[in-house]
Amino acid sequence: MIKQVGPTTINEHHLASCHCGAVVLRLHLPDGIVDPRRCDCSICRRKGAIVASVPLSGIEVVQGHDKLRLYEFNTKTAKHYFCSVCGIYTHHQRRSNPNEYGYNVGCLDGVNPFDIQDVPTNDGVNHPADRLR
Ligand SMILES: [Zn+2]
Repeated sequence: MIKQVGPTTINEHHLASCHCGAVVLRLHLPDGIVDPRRCDCSICRRKGAIVASVPLSGIEVVQGHDKLRLYEFNTKTAKHYFCSVCGIYTHHQRRSNPNEYGYNVGCLDGVNPFDIQDVPTNDGVNHPADRLR
């Protein structure tokens, strides 16, 4: 868990936004940023975001519900949300754990994800949900 990134302290309730500001999320982060990671699956390798996890109850869309778009592919288990105005990925319901959202750490207010040291890269090519079959 990470509760400080550069000059920014992670609040228990921390706001996150897309680039244009149309979409604002309120994240419940009592343990700070949990399990920040990159992933090399077909979608993550394109978006390049550092992602962390929260339970589904940990994200509330406080603004821009109508601007969020849903993208699904392949098994359609994962739900990928992005702002339809600026195109920025904000969060997704995870395929490997549908009880959790992943969210874009770079969307957190005041957080430069490049200040987080030693972010591991998940093996998304050999996805855990594929290995279970
Ligand atoms: Zn936007």
